[in-house]
Amino acid sequence: MDTIVEKITGIWEDDEKIIRTAAEIIRNGGLVAFPTETVYGLGGDAFDENAAAAIYAAKGRPSDNPLIVHIAETEDLTKLCDDVPPAVYALAERFWPGPLTMIVGKNSRVPDTVTGGLETVAVRLPDNLTARRLIKASGTFIAAPSANLSGRPSPTAASHVKEDLAGRIDMIIDGGNIEIGLESTIVDMTGEIPMLLRPGFVTAEMLRETVGEISYDPAIMSGVSGDVKPKAPGMKYRHYAPRAEMTLVEGAPDAVIAKIKRLAKDAAGDGKRVGIMVPSEDGKFFSEGEIICPGSRENTKEIAKNLFGALREFDERGVDIIYAEAFSREGIGSAVMNRLLKAAGQRIIKV
Ligand code: AMP
Ligand code: MG
Repeated sequence: MDTIVEKITGIWEDDEKIIRTAAEIIRNGGLVAFPTETVYGLGGDAFDENAAAAIYAAKGRPSDNPLIVHIAETEDLTKLCDDVPPAVYALAERFWPGPLTMIVGKNSRVPDTVTGGLETVAVRLPDNLTARRLIKASGTFIAAPSANLSGRPSPTAASHVKEDLAGRIDMIIDGGNIEIGLESTIVDMTGEIPMLLRPGFVTAEMLRETVGEISYDPAIMSGVSGDVKPKAPGMKYRHYAPRAEMTLVEGAPDAVIAKIKRLAKDAAGDGKRVGIMVPSEDGKFFSEGEIICPGSRENTKEIAKNLFGALREFDERGVDIIYAEAFSREGIGSAVMNRLLKAAGQRIIKV
């Protein structure tokens, strides 16, 4: 299959043509990768079960891992869910359009293939203008997971989407680099108390300001072990991961630097090509290995934005093993560490 690639220009009329082409593909059951503010999404018609099946096939994604349905207006919720809880509207009022996905009970129009057989559906109103124009133009809602091959880091640039999906989908809309760089926060609104299933740019503290109490899916930080099963099915898979094995080192910067140096030296001694990921303040302490600094320790947003690109870059440089300094878990740091721990298969050394 030839994949059309079109670049957003910022000129309304020119972009309108691109969006119309993409919308037609979606209406005809095809797949389009498009930018959102979090990561690139791989979209298909949310009411077409074959489109959902095609998304799973293109990504190589297990079909028990449900998709997020993207809408263009808050009122669209009523077309997916018969009984929208008031707290959903309260959160929508504050965070939509934006990087928050809410789980609500689904109505019978939402195909089981989209929800992986669950009675609930994940819904998000994205802020990215191209995304919203595309949803509106398509005249339907767009079911979309991240536009990467299953297991690989989520795409934060159109080049990442091309790497993974060129030849497998109908079209890629290149909207430039993404603003946030981490997937949306997911909160389950079907229980008495909203439950955070996946941390993201909208933090637990921010949610609490609007809805009071929230609870946490225990699988968020600990990963999946024994009988802890995450409520967001996608969180159980090794994910966001570079090809090389990654280990995190957490502690005071001096001790972490010393430990990573020792580990890197040992691995290099074994003939391995070593990748090192540390905040930019610490880059100067390393001279050997492939060193990537996604951002300053003081700027978690910068780290979030560059994280997945950095993981892909290690793949490109062909490293065999990666040692990464753990980042702060404050604010969106908790989302950064959640993704890093998953990428590292929960391997963490505390010093
Ligand atoms: P992605 O868009 O690739 O980030 O994947 C969507 C995420 O949303 C996955 O982790 C899914 O498991 C999660 N998700 C989608 N629908 C539901 C749902 N109804 N209940 C719980 N989690 C969901
Ligand atoms: Mg994903």
